[in-house]
Amino acid sequence: MRLLQETSHRRRNPLTGEWILVSPHRAQRPWQGQTEQPARVTAPAYDPKCYLCPGNRRAGDAVNPQYTQTFVFDNDFPALMMDAGAETLDHAGLIVAEAEPGLCRVVCFSPRHNLTLARMDVADIARVVETWSDQYRTLAAVDGVNFVQIFENRGEMMGASNPHPHCQIWATRSVPNEIAKETAGQAEYWHKHGSPLLLDYLKLEKDARERIVFENEHFTVLVPFWAVWPFETMLLPHHHVGSIDELTSAEAQSLADSLRAITIRYDNLFATSFPYSMGFHQRPTDGTAHAEWQLHAHFYPPLLRSATVRKFMVGFELLGEPQRDITPEHAAERLRTLPSRHYLDGA
Ligand SMILES: [Zn+2]
Ligand SMILES: [Zn+2]
Repeated sequence: MRLLQETSHRRRNPLTGEWILVSPHRAQRPWQGQTEQPARVTAPAYDPKCYLCPGNRRAGDAVNPQYTQTFVFDNDFPALMMDAGAETLDHAGLIVAEAEPGLCRVVCFSPRHNLTLARMDVADIARVVETWSDQYRTLAAVDGVNFVQIFENRGEMMGASNPHPHCQIWATRSVPNEIAKETAGQAEYWHKHGSPLLLDYLKLEKDARERIVFENEHFTVLVPFWAVWPFETMLLPHHHVGSIDELTSAEAQSLADSLRAITIRYDNLFATSFPYSMGFHQRPTDGTAHAEWQLHAHFYPPLLRSATVRKFMVGFELLGEPQRDITPEHAAERLRTLPSRHYLDGA
């Protein structure tokens, strides 16, 4: 279609109602196919200076146990305080604030300092999925927690200060902006069509097959039609699931397999340990059923052309709306055709 592949155009994100500007004419030159030297990481399996490694001292007096699988602890420098109270401020509806109580936890994926999701076994990643599921359920039950955000920042480019494989879980009283927008988008669709927005969208993608990167029995990874970041992907379950704790153990295995598959492809794309922010979006835990909600994960990687050339959100993107040159279809094709074995394994 000329509109999508040759003409400057806008694409709408039905989850949020926001638009993205796409400029395919600027990316028509053939791919240069850089052959970069893989940056072989020689990090040790244990780092005595790492505050996440087993047996090491963290801030204050806390000492990590000699954990052997996953390890969860309350963040020593939490962004949220559970005892923040309920104070509010409102001057003429213009200067408005409210207390935001909440909890911040850290989940170490593995005792091994030098692993990443792409370098872990499916069975070990499945244990991480199980931990996420337990944490979601536990935090959802805490009085005053209405949303649970599980997210991983990977790589220095994304501000991750420690390479030890870990993620964070923030549980908040309020439903954050992105979730509020996606709740509205999904609720509107649900009331109109009686089916989940993302499942109907997945059907269209499975017919078109232009933006799919990876599929297994229970999950699909695709570049959304409305993707903002050059190699952004979304991970979707094949049936209606509102939150991660509703997955069967077979589905949790499939999710682990999908996470491994996409992170390996990301590492292989520019032969680097690929940076990203990823996280799960799922139904708020505010006491309502939220039948409209479909569990999914977003991967937002900053890299554009190589291990060092990143996309910036500046100028028109910061002041107007996001813009991209390489089309989501082209990005999906690049990711789909990459080897499924990790580059360090000599694929
Ligand atoms: Zn470590
Ligand atoms: Zn989402």
